[in-house]
Amino acid sequence: MPGLCQFEVTTCSSEETINEFEALTRDAGRVQQDTLKKILEANADAEYLARFGLDGRTDAESYKSRVPLCVHSDVEPFIQRVAHGDSSSVITRKPITALSLSSGTTQGKPKFLPFNEELIENTLQVFRTSYAFRNREYTTGKGKALQFFYCSKQISTDGGVIATTATTNLYRSPRYREGMKGIRSQGCSPDEVIFGPDFHQSLYCHLLCGLIYSDEVRFVSSTFAHSLVQAFQTLEDVWEDLCADIREGVLSEKVTVPSIRQAVSRILKPNPQLADWIYNKCVRLSCWYGVIPALWPKAKYVYGIMTGSMEPYLKKLRHYAGHLPLISADYGASEGYVGCNIDPTVPPEQVTYAVLPNTGYYEFIPLEKSTGGEMENSASIHYIESGPVGLTEVEVGKIYEVVLTTFAGLYRYRLGDVVKIAGFHNSTPQLQFICRRSLVLSINVDKNTEKDLQFAVEEASKLLEGEKLGIVDFTSCVDTSSDPGRYVIYWELSSGTRDEVLSSCANALDLAFVDEGYNGSRKNKTIAPLELRILNKGTFKEILVHFLGLGGSVSQFKTPRFVNPSNSKVLQILNKNVTQSYFSTAYGL
Ligand code: AMP
Repeated sequence: MPGLCQFEVTTCSSEETINEFEALTRDAGRVQQDTLKKILEANADAEYLARFGLDGRTDAESYKSRVPLCVHSDVEPFIQRVAHGDSSSVITRKPITALSLSSGTTQGKPKFLPFNEELIENTLQVFRTSYAFRNREYTTGKGKALQFFYCSKQISTDGGVIATTATTNLYRSPRYREGMKGIRSQGCSPDEVIFGPDFHQSLYCHLLCGLIYSDEVRFVSSTFAHSLVQAFQTLEDVWEDLCADIREGVLSEKVTVPSIRQAVSRILKPNPQLADWIYNKCVRLSCWYGVIPALWPKAKYVYGIMTGSMEPYLKKLRHYAGHLPLISADYGASEGYVGCNIDPTVPPEQVTYAVLPNTGYYEFIPLEKSTGGEMENSASIHYIESGPVGLTEVEVGKIYEVVLTTFAGLYRYRLGDVVKIAGFHNSTPQLQFICRRSLVLSINVDKNTEKDLQFAVEEASKLLEGEKLGIVDFTSCVDTSSDPGRYVIYWELSSGTRDEVLSSCANALDLAFVDEGYNGSRKNKTIAPLELRILNKGTFKEILVHFLGLGGSVSQFKTPRFVNPSNSKVLQILNKNVTQSYFSTAYGL
């Protein structure tokens, strides 16, 4: 029976979970109607909804005709009232008592979003479902998981409401922790490491605890792939210290936070044999290829969100993972969950997310590309949009923007993500994540998205392959300080290389933006030659630390692929770290 497991997560078997998923998705249209009814009945007299005169109606037609689509700025004044301590029914009948801070990496300003018990249940349902499918292919049995999870600080708003990142809200919830016990293997690290105030120390201790339990680890994971790459890059630098700690049974003095020291010291015992084993494995690796299966021989896969803005990290992650499969984790946001990965055997580049029709009410705004993007890989877009359609009305092969109605008080909320319908599982669609909808690079008639930038960087980075170096991370901005303006692409590289190579990269980047608006403007010189700026090593770490200072968490960090001029702090960090700069000559000088 659909929903049977909802409140009994810990007791559901994988088979029951899969059966529940099949039943829900076979009847996705009806489940959506019921879900909308539940949300509207529960919140009919919340102030945000009551304004639209639904007068008890809970059908999709009335809902869509009366309640307008909205974006974050439309709901912000209501959420601010919640933050200021208004405990009346502002957006939901039951007052919202916790807020999530979403990353807001592009604007450089985190946004508040409502968080409640229903979001926890939805998250558990999505995790339980994808785990059931994963477990069917790669049975992990009893064992541990090496999880690079980090929580951010909790703040109390002036109205006394707890606010922190959504992942922290989840980890801190007893209900979530209880529910997760039945879903995933236990992590290696004690809570004090996950909740530690200094992410460098937490990361070091995650690695250390993972090595202590090396023989028991069944999979390695993080929320986003970025944290996985960051973890193994750190391992390359600190492996000898880790070996020394294990050999002596004494935690490095670098770890100074008392709570972390105490908790880790409890599980760290002198183990020279293990230290030798780790040492020998590490020295035999060639450029750290396959370090994950070498040090965690019983691990069956590597897990984390690997699509969208995480795709650029796949190459490096594959290198560390060796023969182990990479499995992309589910698709969700601080606003609510969207879909889960039910086919773990599919490589991340082709992964799709099946929507669970009882986790919210989903609509999709059809988007049509009007120009540019001739090449299959590019998402160059001037989108023309039409009226939103329901979950079961989407068409395979078409692209849409996702609209959410959640149990936590967001009604017809434009999530800003663009997805493509890859197919259906029973009657629920399977979404392929394309990109964030917001434009990144635009000076005049040109329009390029995160995906276009990613494509250009991939094209240009092919020139680095022969040089045996890689792009650690990248971002961009438009420089309009002179007329005409130009695109600026920032690269941090794993090591230095010849000027000729980087000059060719600047040309390759310039030519790889296939948007007609850009090409035309470059040809008629209304956009100046693209500039490639090379950064000092460690620049992106500095940007990460800056975001953590704003209340972000490593677990939810996404490198901003475009830096707004308003985000002066990040631009400052980038520009003070520029070591070389190359201008494209691709369209002549
Ligand atoms: P936040 O709420 O700050 O954690 O960010 C949520 C956003 O992360 C979503 O709106 C997506 O743009 C992105 N995201 C989350 N999950 C995925 C996924 N599986 N694939 C690609 N992008 C994702």
